[in-house]
Order: sequence, then C-alpha cells, then structure tokens
Amino acid sequence: MLVVMQAHATAEDIRAVCAKIETLGYRAHAIPGAERTAIGVTGNQGEVEVGTLEEMAGVQEVIRVTKPYKLVSRDMKVENTVITFSGSEATFGGPGLAIVAGPCAIENRDQAFAIAERVQRAGAQFFRGGAYKPRTSPYSFQGLGEEALEIMARVRESFGMKIVTEAIDHESLELVEQYADVIQIGARNMQNFSLLKRAGRAHRPVLLKRGMSATLEELLMAAEYVMSEGNYQVILCERGMRTFADHTRNTLDLSLIPAVQRLSHLPIIVDPSHGTGKRNKVTPLSRAAVAVGADGLIIEVHHEPDRALSDGMQSLYPDQFDELMVQVKQIAPVVGRRVPVIGEAAAAANRKGSTRLTIGANS
Ligand code: PEP
Ligand code: MN
Repeated sequence: MLVVMQAHATAEDIRAVCAKIETLGYRAHAIPGAERTAIGVTGNQGEVEVGTLEEMAGVQEVIRVTKPYKLVSRDMKVENTVITFSGSEATFGGPGLAIVAGPCAIENRDQAFAIAERVQRAGAQFFRGGAYKPRTSPYSFQGLGEEALEIMARVRESFGMKIVTEAIDHESLELVEQYADVIQIGARNMQNFSLLKRAGRAHRPVLLKRGMSATLEELLMAAEYVMSEGNYQVILCERGMRTFADHTRNTLDLSLIPAVQRLSHLPIIVDPSHGTGKRNKVTPLSRAAVAVGADGLIIEVHHEPDRALSDGMQSLYPDQFDELMVQVKQIAPVVGRRVPVIGEAAAAANRKGSTRLTIGANS
C-alpha cells in the first residue's frame, strides 16, 4: 500500500502518518519525490486498514499496490532515482553516464594502480575490482580479501575515483561497507535473501546484478528486499543471462533496460564484459547499451589480460577502453546523456586539494 501525500503536506504531517503506520504494526518508507512524498507501507500480510490514514492531515490518497514489488515501482516514485556521492559529481541515474571500470579482481597493488591510472585518465568515475571472488571452481583465485580493499582505498585516495566492489556473504559485506563507496551483489547472490537484507541495512548504495537466469520480476523483487530494509539506494545491472548461445559466454539482454525503466525508478547499468565474455564484443555492446538508454557501464579492463587471474578473456586492454570511451561519448548526446569529464582534469583538481570533480558537457 502507498500513502500519497499532498504537495503541500508538512514534514510534521509526513512524520505523523509514518508513526501511525508503525503503530499499526507495519513499516513506513517515506520517499520524497519532486512533486510530493509517497509513503510505502510494507510488512503487512493482508490488507491494511486504510480508514484512519485517509483522514490524516496532508494525505491525498491511499493506493493499493497490486504489483508484488512496491518500493522499487514507479507508482512509489515517478521521477528517476539519482544516486550521488559526497565529494564527487558522479551519479547513477543522473544525466551523466556512470562509467565503472577496472580489473575483474585486484591482484596486487601495482596491477590495481596501473589499471586505475589508465581508466581514470580515460574518464571512469568509478573503479571496480574484486576483493572476494565467487568463482565456479574452488581452486581458482578467490581474491585477496581485505588486502584488496585496502589497495582500493588507496586507489580512491590517489585517483579520486569511487570504489565499487563485491560482497559475497555477511562477513565480507561488513568489510566492504567500511572500505567501498558502492557494495556490489553479484549475479550468483541475487537471490541470497539474507545477504540482500543485510545490504538493505548498509549505509552504502548497492549495485545489484541480475542473476544469470532471473526474470525481470525476480530482479525487481531482489531490489525490493534491499529497499524493504530501508536502503533506497539501489542500482540494477544487466550482465547477461544463460541461453543456448555459444558464441558468447552469456546473452546480454538489452531489452531489460527499457523494460525496467517503465516499471521502476531505479537506475540500471550494463555489464558487457560478463554479458558477452569476449573482449571483441565489449565495445560494440557498450555502444548499444548507451544507445538503449542505460544509466552507465561497468567494464573489465586489465593491462595484461593474458596474465589476469580472472576473466582475462573479456578484459579490455587500456587502449581499447580509451577507444570505447571516445565512442560512448559520441553516442551519449544522441540519447540526451553525456559522459562527465573526470579523468585528468579532475585529478589535477584533486591534487590541488579540491575534492570537487568537474563535469563538462559532452567531451
Ligand atoms: C564481477 O563483476 O566480477 C562478477 C563476478 O560479476 P557477476 O556477478 O555478474 O558474474
Ligand atoms: Mn569478472
């Protein structure tokens, strides 16, 4: 159920409605929009008794939400959710595309810094790198754990990029929350409901990747798990799904982007690296992802992919990432987006002691 407040409802009106919902034994989620605040009601098994709520000051209407997902839905919030970061103008869901790049896994300090230097120069605002790797084989490299998180914290300090890294369980989430700017929940954990709930209690945005055989509704329900715990900062990610096709590792489902955007206010980005598994397909599908209206890209880059400890086959060489950025910058304005200017200019500003990153139009 959804309580839509009047445009002129006061903060006190909103507080009183939330308090009333809680005394009825439910949970209230007040989500402000540009025109009005909506209060989502969760925790009810059956129908909520709406009578008293409808009479309260500032309430415009009480709507029954028939879809299984509520807080992620556009019924709850008409405008797109824009996720912002302190000390940076990078966003997920704003007019600027979010560009996340880096190696699959952090292997050592030199590797991370070599790649960070190149992706930052090319314009990435976010640095990705796995510290905890969910690998198919127990004998494959499992990640450096906290050591990798420390390396990434130093990358942030040196290059001004925000850090995105995966948590695979409760224990790693505790640490990832302390070090990273965005907590990634991987495809294999998209329906790890206990982990989703824990991420919902974290104080960081969550990048939720679509499970490899998850439907749109299952993805939205996974996001609903996070939001139902009070964390409304969720970014969705299409990363390919399992099909019969064998010319790629996964089949990237770009139709998911407009489908999600119709139903949800949450930002959605695309991972063409895992989505194709093949280096030569990453740039074409990045172009397509931007053209289809994605809010950003997450790309694996490695300076020595042949020696990478994971996902070398799908990692771009830094020069290829440079070229990808050139192409993406040309496509973005066609769909009313731009790629924020970060790279060198921002690094120079950072070195001068400013934490403000400059964003210019379309260059
Ligand atoms: C990753 O981003 O390195 C990763 C393991 O992704 P996914 O969960 O999509 O496989
Ligand atoms: Mn990977």
